[in-house]
Amino acid sequence: MQKTPKSLRLHIALFGRTNVGKSSFLNLIAGQDVSIVSEQAGTTTDVVEKPMELLPIGPVVFLDTAGIDDTTALGEKRVDRTERVFDRADVILLLHEGDRVTEFETRVAAKAAAKNIPVIRIANKMDLTHPTDAAFLRCDSTDLASRDKVLAALKSELLSVCPDEFIAPPPLMGDLVRPGGLAMLIVPIDLQAPKGRLILPQVSTIRDALDNDAATLVCKEREYSHMLAMLNQKPDVAICDSQMVLKMVADTPDDIPCTTFSILFARLKGDLRKFAMGAAAIDKLEPGDKVLIAESCSHHALEDDIGRVKIPRWLRQYVGVDVEIDVYAGRDFPDNLSEYKLAVQCGGCMQNRREVLSRIEKCEAAGVPITNYGLCISQTQGVLRRVLSPFPSALLAYEELNHGTH
Ligand code: SF4
Repeated sequence: MQKTPKSLRLHIALFGRTNVGKSSFLNLIAGQDVSIVSEQAGTTTDVVEKPMELLPIGPVVFLDTAGIDDTTALGEKRVDRTERVFDRADVILLLHEGDRVTEFETRVAAKAAAKNIPVIRIANKMDLTHPTDAAFLRCDSTDLASRDKVLAALKSELLSVCPDEFIAPPPLMGDLVRPGGLAMLIVPIDLQAPKGRLILPQVSTIRDALDNDAATLVCKEREYSHMLAMLNQKPDVAICDSQMVLKMVADTPDDIPCTTFSILFARLKGDLRKFAMGAAAIDKLEPGDKVLIAESCSHHALEDDIGRVKIPRWLRQYVGVDVEIDVYAGRDFPDNLSEYKLAVQCGGCMQNRREVLSRIEKCEAAGVPITNYGLCISQTQGVLRRVLSPFPSALLAYEELNHGTH
């Protein structure tokens, strides 16, 4: 992987009324054409994503939103897509025409406040009006010579509002290994494994071990016991793909902590305590209950697809009744959430943390327990307590709701 994955970038959404200069502002910052700029109102028809390195902040992705104030038929789709940006924006840049504040800017700021997203206001087109309010960052996006000055001011503002969790994100697995220690990673090399490479959760885990001065030993499930027996020192932790959790737990001595990649990502990208509480709701499913399976990216579903085939099968086998299952993929998340008795979110490795937390918030607001793939699978295999044991507060939250009905 040569580039920082999008999911690890600070997501900066750029909002502004149609033709207030969003695209030219983005071009000014990027120093190149990344958006279509036109005299005709509303040329940008979709959210344009532009990854950039903004040192010292690091990797960011700008989300150039379409005209949220567009009233045409095409505009309805644009507005819907643009509205969803609030689910994943870490910071909002709100571009004003000079210092004008219309109903649009007020609405964007109110939505951002409701979601606790910091807003940086930028006064663009200063040839039209000259803001005196110090709350505005000033800019003329058509003045290319001003780039360095605008960029410096923007970086300084971003650093002051940047969410703490971006500067110091929750650990992936660094707290589970000692410096000089060892993590054993058990990965499947099957039909679903991409050719010639490891998948993002596995690569991220290896990188996190290195960042924490630990080593990793990567093997397939068949070799795991043998590898373990060859070691003259116990590993600090064993981590496996959820689909082989039963075998890993069976092969791992009690004094070696073990968990799954998906559980690590539940903590990094979401809220492990809430996902653990959601897993406890699996035992309460009744015949005909609706379960939502939410995958964060669209991929070509293979024959034994995890979200479409395996989890539905394991869930039905475990609860012993037939439940109705809907699968949503990509950015789609249903509006009729309250119809569901449980939501099961994928590992979210392609999403930023803000987007997963937004889904958790939506489920909470609708009164729907939410868990993730790894916790759900481990629950249906009867080993959730074991793989949650490295995370005492999540285990406690689970224990409080689940009194071992299975
Ligand atoms: S479906 Fe979810 S866990 Fe799987 S690759 Fe996509 S984002 Fe990652």
